[in-house]
Amino acid sequence: MSEIIIRKEGRAGRITLNRPKALNALSYEMCLETEKALDAWRHDDEVDLIVLDAEGDRAFCAGGDIADLYRSAQEQDYDYGRRFWSDEYRMNAKIAEYPKPVVAFLNGFVMGGGVGIGGHCAHRIVGESTQISMPECSIGFVPDVGGSYLLSKAPGRLGEYLGLTAARMGAGDAVHAGFADHFVPEAEWEALKARLVETGDITSLPVHAAPESPLKQTQDEIDALFSGEALIDVVNALRNSDSDFAVKSLKTIGRNAPLSMAVTIEMLHRLRMGQSDIRKALELEYRVCYRIMEHGDMIEGIRAAIIDKDRSPKWRHDLENVPAADISKMLLPLGKNALSFRERAMKIGFIGLGNMGGPMAANLAKEGHAVAGFDVAGTTAEGVASVNSAAEAAKDADVVITMLPNGEILRAVASDVIPAMSKGAVLLDCSTVDVASARAVAELCGAAELGFLDAPVSGGIGGAAGGTLTFMVGGTQTALDKAMPLFDIMGQKAVHCGEAGNGQAAKICNNMILGITMVGTCEAFALADKLGLSREAMFDVVSTSSGYSWSMNAYCPAPGVGPQSPADNDYQPGFAAELMLKDLRLSQQAAGAADADTPLGLAATELYETFVEQEDGKGRDFSAMLPRFAGRGRS
Ligand code: NAD
Repeated sequence: MSEIIIRKEGRAGRITLNRPKALNALSYEMCLETEKALDAWRHDDEVDLIVLDAEGDRAFCAGGDIADLYRSAQEQDYDYGRRFWSDEYRMNAKIAEYPKPVVAFLNGFVMGGGVGIGGHCAHRIVGESTQISMPECSIGFVPDVGGSYLLSKAPGRLGEYLGLTAARMGAGDAVHAGFADHFVPEAEWEALKARLVETGDITSLPVHAAPESPLKQTQDEIDALFSGEALIDVVNALRNSDSDFAVKSLKTIGRNAPLSMAVTIEMLHRLRMGQSDIRKALELEYRVCYRIMEHGDMIEGIRAAIIDKDRSPKWRHDLENVPAADISKMLLPLGKNALSFRERAMKIGFIGLGNMGGPMAANLAKEGHAVAGFDVAGTTAEGVASVNSAAEAAKDADVVITMLPNGEILRAVASDVIPAMSKGAVLLDCSTVDVASARAVAELCGAAELGFLDAPVSGGIGGAAGGTLTFMVGGTQTALDKAMPLFDIMGQKAVHCGEAGNGQAAKICNNMILGITMVGTCEAFALADKLGLSREAMFDVVSTSSGYSWSMNAYCPAPGVGPQSPADNDYQPGFAAELMLKDLRLSQQAAGAADADTPLGLAATELYETFVEQEDGKGRDFSAMLPRFAGRGRS
């Protein structure tokens, strides 16, 4: 039986935690599956809202699966925990920021990881059995999964009280403290879920008064006792009071990890300063996670609580003596190891490791993705595992990327890889090909329940190596969302141009303009030569007048004039004339198919055809049109 049940019902996406015997404690798998479902439904028109609930009546979710953390830390493997937390926190942020309503039904225990998945939803429903708490300080950890954010926003010093003592909140307290939104008697929950599923309409939430909040009655005392600058101030305030509440709180605090509580106070103070949001809180929490297994009390806390169950943890510090330096060490920024919210590493198949594909694949591998590459020429790329066929590269891949010479080859490769790909994976073609081939491959992918994107690039070999390409993307938003983290690595910008084929359409139109403006710029320089106007003067005028263009301003075809360009390197490409000819031919093929009148595009195509096929253009940069024009007369 699956630990989490994910399905679409009526107008809703439904996520049900399904480990009732383990009080629905959140496993790594459950975090990843939740994130996958959120990603899939983000732009799914059949899903208006998400309903999140849990099997069993004892707990919505009583925390995270900490036994695995303990086992990995025993083997000095701290990376497992870091990976788990960074994936879990990204999911927590996605829930908090989700563009569609997420309705969570928080029954029974809702602790730690349960607050992370249920406590940031837009509509948090609580009932008679609800018991919410952040108990991390009792196992030598700190309130995490964005819990520190909720604590920092709770009225007065409630955050400190709840974080340090792990006190449980019933429905009334949860609403008062900002951990829940609506009280609905649990007898009504099933009917309410059915209504949400049927209508997809969030406005049908019933309105009930929340029960009394005992915490609200105690708020003044809590504010007085828990407002100290540091843990020792709180401890002293509690010792100086003889109220039952203070005595009980002090007893609880006496059992919990001093370092954890001191760090928690510092975190809440920092989060209350200036603007904070869930990401800021998660990033702060992650600093602690990163270090606490090795340098804090967490492993000892887990041992005492759930491994040896002796309930006698030996904490590193006394309540009275947690040095400020130890607190700040836990919270120091992590530099390049900081929580990035970047998507989990993907399995990528990369087909076509030529001048462009090679460095693009290497950049993906460098960022931690598992890249399997194939090229008929046997070329490889750094960090990329070579495999023996395109189909092998595509097997089990989340995304298959192609970077191939033309549409015919793309179609042939697509017919090999599509049957090997898993449902839901995305075929991402970055080659420059004809619009018809892109659309034909998109159709094959659709029939195989795969996503497809045509995403030709601009930026050339330098952009491929430097990760600064611009992608012009055609295809669905869902496929684009999946590929976005890869575009972020390979390029600086991805522009969504609409449906499949539109990326190629944009590329072809752009490069037709480029071919035309380069020809125009070159013939104007040749004319200026013959009129006795210096190239320098011509550049100075045109680059700041209405004749300016990228061809003149950024890629000036005259050697020694304007910014550095292939003209300064004896017209070594750069962007080879034959590649420009390829793109211009694609523009004319598309114009023919669409019955578009493109006389200048046609003229540029013919000029580059002559240049490449009958003159000395092949292997030279496309701006070498300038010496061609300069050496000719009018006839
Ligand atoms: P390239 O010729 O260097 O690379 C293409 C690679 O595909 C080659 O290594 C080739 O062996 C491989 N290949 C061919 N058939 C294959 C098959 N059936 N299976 C696997 N591999 C196969 O070309 P490139 O410069 O890398 O350009 C790739 C694409 O990017 C082209 O569509 C091009 O128009 C476009 N593009 C290139 C530039 C540039 O400046 N080079 C700029 C923008 C776009």
